[in-house]
Amino acid sequence: MDVILIGPPGAGKGTQARWLVEALRAPQISTGDMLRAARKAGTELGRKADTFMNAGKLVPDEVVVGLVAERLHAPDCAGGFLLDGFPRTIPQAQALDAELARHGRKVQSVVAIEVPDEAIVRRLSGRRTCGTCNRIWHLEFDPPPSPATCSCGGALVHRDDDKEATIRNRLKVYHDQTSPLAEYYERQGVLRRVAGDGKPEEVRGRIFKELGLR
Ligand code: AMP
Repeated sequence: MDVILIGPPGAGKGTQARWLVEALRAPQISTGDMLRAARKAGTELGRKADTFMNAGKLVPDEVVVGLVAERLHAPDCAGGFLLDGFPRTIPQAQALDAELARHGRKVQSVVAIEVPDEAIVRRLSGRRTCGTCNRIWHLEFDPPPSPATCSCGGALVHRDDDKEATIRNRLKVYHDQTSPLAEYYERQGVLRRVAGDGKPEEVRGRIFKELGLR
């Protein structure tokens, strides 16, 4: 079974993806992870992606499409895959359709995790990262011993990624470029909308029910 996960930043796609790959016994293809790995390895692709990622912008379609097209042909994807963070634009979705069609396949299930903007801002802007041990806390949902200090004694940092202005910018990019995908897949009859509020386990239950998984 092939599953595509879409949703705004902070919707919990990464967490749900981990549960889904276990249930589907299929590999997870996350363009965000692939781009971060390329950036860390200092490859040409990583350098190309770096400026866009730092600015909270989308990496150009042709870069990401090339990356995914190659990955989809790996033997471990023959029985299915879980796409997380791709497609993010209509041209990417069209490229994916074309790529799958070349192999006699098509998109089967698209799960859209829906979370209101204000909830996203609340979720992400409360995050604090320990500069020493890298543990991530949340001021409201998983509070550290004190707002500025980790349990290891390290100082907590409010990363630029987690600041309200950056989050609102990423949400704008999402609404402008990614949310039209819901309609695109609705027209293909493969879209399943799932409410993303509540605990991660509750969201998981809704997704699994939609997909007929246990
Ligand atoms: P993510 O971890 O999925 O939020 O991705 C982190 C960053 O990588 C995004 O803000 C984009 O700059 C870039 N990125 C990841 N996936 C894509 C994609 N499908 N298209 C364009 N840019 C992407």
